[in-house]
Amino acid sequence: MKISKESWPILIVSNQFDTRNDESFRLRELAHELETEHGCKIVPCLSYEDAIELLLSRTDFGALVIDWDINRTNPAAKHSPASVLSAIRKRNPKIPVFLLTDWLEASDIPLEVINQLTGCLWKTSDTIEFLAGRIERHLVKYVKGLYPPFFGKLIDYSEEYKYAWHTPGHMGGTGFLRNPSGVALFKFFGENIFRSDLSISAPELGSLLDHSGVTGDAERNSARVFGADLTYYVLNGTSNVNQIIWRSIALPDDVVFVDRNCHKSLNYAMVNADAYPIYMKPRRNRWGIMGPVKLSELSEKSVAQKIKKSKIIPADLRPKTLKIAAITNSTYDGVCYNVKKLKRALEPISDNLHFDEAWYAYAKFYPIYDGFFGMTQDETTPTTPPIYVAQSTHKLLTAFSQASMLHVKNGGSRKINPDELNEAYMMHASTSPQYNMIASLDVATQMMEDSGESMWKDVIMMAIGLRKTVAKIAAELKSRNPNDWFFEIWQPRKVKVDKEILNFENVPTQYLATSQSAWILNSCDDWHGFEEIEDGYAMLDPIKLTFITPGINPDGSLSEMGIPAAVVTNYLLEEGIVCEKTDYYSFLLLNSLGTNRAKQETLLSALLHFKNLYDANAPMEEAMPAFTQKNPKYKGIGLKDHCRAMHEFIKERKMLELMHKSFDLLPDQAMKPTQAYRNVVKKNVELVELKDMFGRIPAVMIVPYPPGIPMLMGGEVLNKKSKAVFDYLKARESFENKFCGYESEIHGIEKIERDGKIRFCTMCIKQ
Ligand SMILES: *Cc1c(COP(=O)(O)O)cnc(C)c1O
Repeated sequence: MKISKESWPILIVSNQFDTRNDESFRLRELAHELETEHGCKIVPCLSYEDAIELLLSRTDFGALVIDWDINRTNPAAKHSPASVLSAIRKRNPKIPVFLLTDWLEASDIPLEVINQLTGCLWKTSDTIEFLAGRIERHLVKYVKGLYPPFFGKLIDYSEEYKYAWHTPGHMGGTGFLRNPSGVALFKFFGENIFRSDLSISAPELGSLLDHSGVTGDAERNSARVFGADLTYYVLNGTSNVNQIIWRSIALPDDVVFVDRNCHKSLNYAMVNADAYPIYMKPRRNRWGIMGPVKLSELSEKSVAQKIKKSKIIPADLRPKTLKIAAITNSTYDGVCYNVKKLKRALEPISDNLHFDEAWYAYAKFYPIYDGFFGMTQDETTPTTPPIYVAQSTHKLLTAFSQASMLHVKNGGSRKINPDELNEAYMMHASTSPQYNMIASLDVATQMMEDSGESMWKDVIMMAIGLRKTVAKIAAELKSRNPNDWFFEIWQPRKVKVDKEILNFENVPTQYLATSQSAWILNSCDDWHGFEEIEDGYAMLDPIKLTFITPGINPDGSLSEMGIPAAVVTNYLLEEGIVCEKTDYYSFLLLNSLGTNRAKQETLLSALLHFKNLYDANAPMEEAMPAFTQKNPKYKGIGLKDHCRAMHEFIKERKMLELMHKSFDLLPDQAMKPTQAYRNVVKKNVELVELKDMFGRIPAVMIVPYPPGIPMLMGGEVLNKKSKAVFDYLKARESFENKFCGYESEIHGIEKIERDGKIRFCTMCIKQ
């Protein structure tokens, strides 16, 4: 592998660059030698303070050289070489670090410093050539070690790959160069993307489809790092991981247990499996935030009842245990399950457990989540079922979009046979895998193994910092005027630190970042708004921030004043801030490895700015110019009046209440979801307008965003029992007609325009 040494600069920390003495002369000579003879790049740095700053913000150094005695000439300096060393070693145990010193000083260097060094460079006694050579050798060795096996091999191969006669047809990118549009694409993405875009006929790289060679090694390495017995890389997202899991387990007429708060891919998995579903209902609080499924719903008795009550499962097919139980962990709002408690509940009732952890692949790497993720180490008994975990590595770790992982833990007495599982895998895999995506999964694994904990600590500390700042601003505004308002974040208001109870904003960030107990939902607390929560069963994920806007009273009724979250998130959009999810009076923002302080500052100032505009009832064209230009009917209306009008509408039409009711009911099933889909294939379906839909059976699921939870599955009936769903959809239809610009996606609903009005339609089974 060729290494570009220029891309891995050497940080030299010394205050001798500009002085005129022997030492500084040799230092400049050394830097010169490294640059001219070895092709290295030098980043000079004059103080230990600056070095620490640099090491916290950059991770691309190839080696570090620290002058031992900057302090001799600058006794006021706060930091020492030891503090620079400790700053870098906490984050990077492998980078070569040299101390620049001389024989006489060497005896003063403490042993713990020497222990963490790659070596000492003698300022005066060794030749410059020797010193430079030594640094360069270590740099190259270090940088080569940064490429995990698959990624390394991919680079080697793409460097050789010149005269190939196989697919992909662009052959290392050259195919694009035959036409200017192709050239534009090639130039945009850069050569390496194409050189490493290879065909499966490259034998040196092994095969993803039979998990062999370096590809298989990379998967096995990920299994070790993520705590699984078996890991497969899946290149078409967790949507497909979920499908593969179910394909390998569920058969027609099996009874399966599905979290209603699940991703749509699970519904499709269910359709493919032709199984009978029974459902778990996640609980919701007054803001519509999704909490954990009640443990009582997972009891043998409750499950037996659900099966018995099902209108479609024939009595002679009622099973003793369920084939698989699938839970979304964490919920969309960042509520994570205590997996041990969940397993104890599910073990007696389900043959297989499935945790959909699409947004949660980092949990293994930071101790605050201990015990709250699917691959948690736990004792196994002969009856422990196999556990399947689906993770979108691309969502919150670092991988190309669609790059996901399937992790499996063997059951106590049932080991998963990889060959059998692979049959299901192949049914959903392409025979032309994207090697760059595999490399990104390989590297994501290495990143987590090497510095997962320190990276996530940064993210968590930053998220907590923002949580505290928002709480502080709100508290300050309230202390000046009890009727004033600000956004709140859904989080504990008080935290017990040792024996003291402190307001959240006054708790040390370090404490919050390391104490799981601060984030656990307990029955004695009221901040979370969930009734009868089981103690220690769920925790809030610190990095997922649900902002709450004014509008809902503690008893769940709508208050006098209200600011619908959709107005805020549309405003934020104009400021270039994109939210993950918008509900009626809350919106969700995610912190990830890509979050930084500048982003947070931008958000805070935008929120404060919104408040000012709202309080001043600024005209819409001033507050949200782009939005108002697109939707001129809001011109001349004040932002506050606009919010009030929307709030009143939501209140009048009881939208929130209807939504709660809709999610709280389980509609009657007329048929299996599979059968509903078969009607689509047979063209035994028609588009029906919402006004005519009462009494009908939609063939497809209806999933409103927000919150992205199915209200109705395909094959479920819109009848008296599910009237709330019907009424909610009617209210939403009126809402969208009245508040143009605020349309949101509802999966399963087609919106047509007739007589200048939006009308909701759904594909229903013909009568
Ligand atoms: C996004 C998501 C998926 C699908 O993941 P992709 O990698 O986008 O296919 C599955 N489950 C949940 C809970 C998700 O949020």
